[in-house]
Amino acid sequence: MAPEIKYNKIFIDNQWVEAEDINAAVKAAKRAFHRNSEWRLMDASQRGKILNKFADLVERDADYLAELETYNNGMVLSMCRRFIGASAYHIRYNASLADKIQGSTIPCDGDAFSYTLKQPVGVCGLILPWNVPMLMFISKVTTALAAGCTVVVKPAEQTPLTALALAALLAEAGMPPGVVNVVPGFGETAGATLTHHPDVALISFTGSLEVGKLIQQAAGTNNLKRVVLELGGKSPLVIMNDADHETMMNKVLGYIEKGKSEGAKLLTGGKRIGTTGFYIEPAVFADVKDDMAIAKEEIFGPVQSIFKFNTLEEAIDRANATNYGLAAGIFTSSIETALQFSKHVEAGNVWVNTYLHHGPQLPFGGFKESGIGRENGLDAVNSYLEVKTVTISLPKKV
Ligand code: ADP
Repeated sequence: MAPEIKYNKIFIDNQWVEAEDINAAVKAAKRAFHRNSEWRLMDASQRGKILNKFADLVERDADYLAELETYNNGMVLSMCRRFIGASAYHIRYNASLADKIQGSTIPCDGDAFSYTLKQPVGVCGLILPWNVPMLMFISKVTTALAAGCTVVVKPAEQTPLTALALAALLAEAGMPPGVVNVVPGFGETAGATLTHHPDVALISFTGSLEVGKLIQQAAGTNNLKRVVLELGGKSPLVIMNDADHETMMNKVLGYIEKGKSEGAKLLTGGKRIGTTGFYIEPAVFADVKDDMAIAKEEIFGPVQSIFKFNTLEEAIDRANATNYGLAAGIFTSSIETALQFSKHVEAGNVWVNTYLHHGPQLPFGGFKESGIGRENGLDAVNSYLEVKTVTISLPKKV
């Protein structure tokens, strides 16, 4: 049953819980967003300088942060180290955006002069998933800060550690008090309080479609929050190493069984490897039909489905016959085929003769039920800005 929610408190199992921490954080973020606050009076270029200093500190503490992320999430250390490099790069990209947010002058009809201002939307609630905790924190937080917003971050309940360490580094870099607030907590309590809070202007969320739908509903409850939703698709590769390993392994094995029982042909792999750890042989299925579970649902495991098609048109129609639309790829030597596929496939990212090519400059997000809005690049910063159109009466003739 959906929990009852009153203002900043949430009533679950006969008691008011966790809302107080979120409430305090939103209050601090609201104070820091006041038009006369240190943050709002700061030059945009100074915001960029603080973010660049933050990147320096992330690099200074790279070894510590990489190890902490391994404890946090179970990702292997070498991969965490790579993510630190990517994180610092990402911060610097957003740092450089801070003083390049510009409106335009508009030649409107009549005796008037019009221009637009792009202004920070306000207090942003950033709800993070557990799969790439540090990079997610950095991507959302530094985009919001480049735009001039203040933030309350709720890391995933499984992975709060690096978010707290990064908040300390932001403070060391010179972020004024109240601009960045991190509140670890559960989704149904801390997360839901944030998404219902009347003083939060925007929620940026990365996670499951199911929770994304709850967030979109909550966003319209006490005010009209903007929402940025990145809800996954069919392409992520995830490694887990805690007790849930077993559940996840069984879920993936369940899909493999389902694939076989629905008539797909398992060409190789698909069995558990040994009895230590929770490893599965990469599985490849042939003869997969579009309506099978392994064709439609996100498996989050090493399972590859192979479909045969005859024409490009057919491939596009079948690729689009899913509620998701996060990413798609094509391998071809024909430029016309590449351009036609890229134009007509319903996905937020299209890769041609490559796959999973990402970068801080490149917008990332989904069509359809894969999400709303974009992370990264100039399109991401636009999500954190309101456009204000100013029109001044001004006769054309002097
Ligand atoms: P995943 O599949 O990545 O675990 P979830 O959507 O379950 O995705 O969780 C992603 C984030 O959403 C986590 O930080 C979690 O605590 C939070 N969350 C879960 N339920 C809610 C909710 N009802 N309201 C707000 N946040 C939630």
